[in-house]
Amino acid sequence: MRLDLRGVAVHLDGRPIVHGADLLVDDGEFVALVGPNGCGKSTLLRTIYRALRPSAGLIRVDGDDAHGLPWRESARRTAVVAQETPAELDFTVGEVVLMGRTPYKPDAVADAERCARALDRVGLAGAADRVYATLSGGEKQRALVARALVQETRLLLLDEPTSHLDVHHQLEILHLVRELGTELGLATLAVLHDLNQAAAFCDRLYVMSAGRILAGGPPGQVLTPELISEVYGVRAVHRPQLVFERLSRSRATNLADPGASG
Ligand code: ADP
Ligand code: MG
Repeated sequence: MRLDLRGVAVHLDGRPIVHGADLLVDDGEFVALVGPNGCGKSTLLRTIYRALRPSAGLIRVDGDDAHGLPWRESARRTAVVAQETPAELDFTVGEVVLMGRTPYKPDAVADAERCARALDRVGLAGAADRVYATLSGGEKQRALVARALVQETRLLLLDEPTSHLDVHHQLEILHLVRELGTELGLATLAVLHDLNQAAAFCDRLYVMSAGRILAGGPPGQVLTPELISEVYGVRAVHRPQLVFERLSRSRATNLADPGASG
């Protein structure tokens, strides 16, 4: 699966928000999209998953114009983990995960198995009957990853999947998504807030500013002090810092326990 954007422009309320974006994500690649608040990252992502239409340019998913595909086919190719939305709140975790099967013919038994497998994979085994709204922030995000998994797409889009989480749970989600991408050969495009995290987890990243993609490539090449000061108006300095890493995998698999927090 390859995601290929050429010259994509997006207008909202007649206002140009995204200007001629070129972007590529290949099979098995984890690509990050970073940039200041309001620069158009979510708008671009929403255009890729067809919540918005481009005013110019072409978005190809596996060679086909994404906006020309039947909806069901689009949903079989592209899954989204956005920030949690109120729409999910009235449902059980199992019901939320099963929404990922919408583009397929229902099969109650097989779907229940897929749901159980996906929940197990994200460390939420046995959580299907819990009420989604009662999950912790980290658990909710993992439930949404499980929903993306049962959708069985080859392209995964994430919009600030860690934004409401503490640093431990941020790393859990990023590791999980990264592992799944490698395991399943997914093309992954993630809008990430934290530049250091983006640099640590992605193969390549794109930097967006005021609706334009200014640079793209391996983080070590792209995230220069010059670019950071141009885009964010801050100075990047090298001084001793705490860099957070996970302690072990064992905690992640225990988080289905309702007593766990996060
Ligand atoms: P980011 O995700 O990078 O923080 P967004 O894509 O959400 O940025 O927003 C980019 C710009 O588009 C902002 O100026 C925002 O105010 C504007 N915008 C976002 N959504 C809408 C909308 N539905 N209608 C009009 N303008 C919008
Ligand atoms: Mg956004």
